[in-house]
Amino acid sequence: MRLLVTGAAGFIGSAYVRMLLADGVARAAGVSRITVLDKLTYAGSLDNLDLGDPRLTFVRGDICDAPLVDRLVGEAGQVVHFAAESHVDRSIASADAFVRTNVTGTQILLDAALRHGVERFVHVSTDEVYGSVESGSSTERDPLDPNSPYAASKAASDLLALSYHRTHGLDVRVTRCCNNYGPRQFPEKIVPLFLTSLLDGGDVPLYGDGLNRRDWLYVEDHCRTVESVRTAGSPGRVYNIGGSIELSNRELTERLLAVCGANWSRVRHVPDRKGHDRRYSLDDTRARTELGHHPRYDFTSGLAATFAWYRDNRSWWEPLKRRLTA
Ligand code: NAD
Repeated sequence: MRLLVTGAAGFIGSAYVRMLLADGVARAAGVSRITVLDKLTYAGSLDNLDLGDPRLTFVRGDICDAPLVDRLVGEAGQVVHFAAESHVDRSIASADAFVRTNVTGTQILLDAALRHGVERFVHVSTDEVYGSVESGSSTERDPLDPNSPYAASKAASDLLALSYHRTHGLDVRVTRCCNNYGPRQFPEKIVPLFLTSLLDGGDVPLYGDGLNRRDWLYVEDHCRTVESVRTAGSPGRVYNIGGSIELSNRELTERLLAVCGANWSRVRHVPDRKGHDRRYSLDDTRARTELGHHPRYDFTSGLAATFAWYRDNRSWWEPLKRRLTA
């Protein structure tokens, strides 16, 4: 079976494809070939994929390009959809690309999946669709209440994907995961932004009072559970995927400073992000009980692996940071 994976030149999608191609995981799961469709926006890089692997075909293209999507979906048995504009701050500056890629692009993929009768469509969504949760944790039955344009565009695509199951009977499965961290995350997101700035001897910008809270999951743990959803999940079902630790941004910053051997003097307080959600928290009982979701990395081991990767792979991130600051 050929698997179409969208957005897999980016952070999480590329980790998912690397996992599938490693150690025969793909073969074990009935995948003989993988096609990656990625537009290579600023967030995508071919360095994230092993293009020499004969099982992998890379197609540079836009998920909004309906004829291209129709051809690639027609060749695939199943789809795992990661492609998205993913940075909240960019969505606040301009929502245009977010609506286009996250909403229209998903609809174009779903229409093609329906036309070609694909077996399964895994839509990768996010905990941000639930909006800010002051206390307790969101279950899959909670209403969506997104706040940022990014989260609103992800909520729209998430509900659209579910509507294709309810209306047309397409086998759609949706994952809603918490914040990921790990190697190859674009250095505009908090963990790689802070690590690379500290490695360069610079300071780090902490939003507002730093008390916004997030749940953190190492990227490989996310990918393993996305794969469980594809292989063992149920049609029309949503799976929250929670992390190994909940931290305020202050606590996260303290951990990042410590792993880099730096102290609080390197922190620069900056005005808060507009509409900054205070807290996300997922009840992931369903993924744990039905799919065996269980983070293998605690935050200490995951952060050590992430730090080591950024320390040892300057040639990956230095050009990206130069472009960000140019
Ligand atoms: P990313 O920004 O690192 O990668 C996104 C990829 O999508 C890039 O390779 C980019 O080139 C590609 N892309 C963007 N627009 C495209 C288009 N129109 N057509 C084809 N490709 C396009 O993002 P990520 O952090 O790897 O996130 C992947 C998915 O996981 C997203 O759907 C995101 O909403 C979701 N998610 C992310 C997190 C997180 O913490 N990063 C948490 C939960 C869910």
